[in-house]
Amino acid sequence: MTTNIDNQDREWPDDSARAAAQRPSGSTLPRVMIVEDETSLATLLAYNLEAEGYSVERIERGDEAELRLREEPPDLLVLDWMLPGASGLEICRRLRAREATKSLPVIMLTARGEESERVRGLSTGADDYVVKPFSVPELMARVRSLLRRARPERVAGHLKAGDISLDRETRRVRRGDRDIHLGPTEFKLLDYLMEKPGRVFSRSQLLDALWDQAADIDERTVDVHVGRLRKALVRGRERDPIRTVRGAGYSLDETFGKN
Ligand code: CA
Repeated sequence: MTTNIDNQDREWPDDSARAAAQRPSGSTLPRVMIVEDETSLATLLAYNLEAEGYSVERIERGDEAELRLREEPPDLLVLDWMLPGASGLEICRRLRAREATKSLPVIMLTARGEESERVRGLSTGADDYVVKPFSVPELMARVRSLLRRARPERVAGHLKAGDISLDRETRRVRRGDRDIHLGPTEFKLLDYLMEKPGRVFSRSQLLDALWDQAADIDERTVDVHVGRLRKALVRGRERDPIRTVRGAGYSLDETFGKN
């Protein structure tokens, strides 16, 4: 599956947001290494990953990445295909050949065209690949889902959408500088929607995912909790982050906070 959403969907860094995303050093945040020679893309990815609670290391050359991967492998690697020094494909093959890194989660980035056809056809050893240009929320969702599969204990506990942030560990939700108090069901609902921005979930999908014994519960229950969640999140003329898609369900508006 690939996505091709234009640049408006990207979140660009600014200094205040970067400062807010910084974490104390020496912490045990999940670590993502980005190996990408396109500086603007690497900056964008690092910014978004840091905002979500990952510690990020950026490397521009393939040969340098190989050294670092031997010294200190991350929890997950985002690896560009075409790199100076050594290609993503070579790096990936060597990782797989070594005991210490043979199951390191790898997301390969490829350019559209021949390369991606080759990636699709070859056994690269990557766990997932994303074709450029891709949307940042899509890549973030891939990072989370790959980490959850490979290293469930290393998924970042911090989700962010526009001015709304959710911390899974402290179970705190904030919008701008105010705390949002949510009941347990509304918290789970927001967490679920924020994890896959833009994806529309039907009422029955939400019931299955968030309620025990969903079969016994009326689908309108979902509407009630979405209503409560909206009421808690939206004050005055603030923008509603939740999109109702008629006949389909609900999603977290992926354009929320982007303009
Ligand atoms: Ca490249």
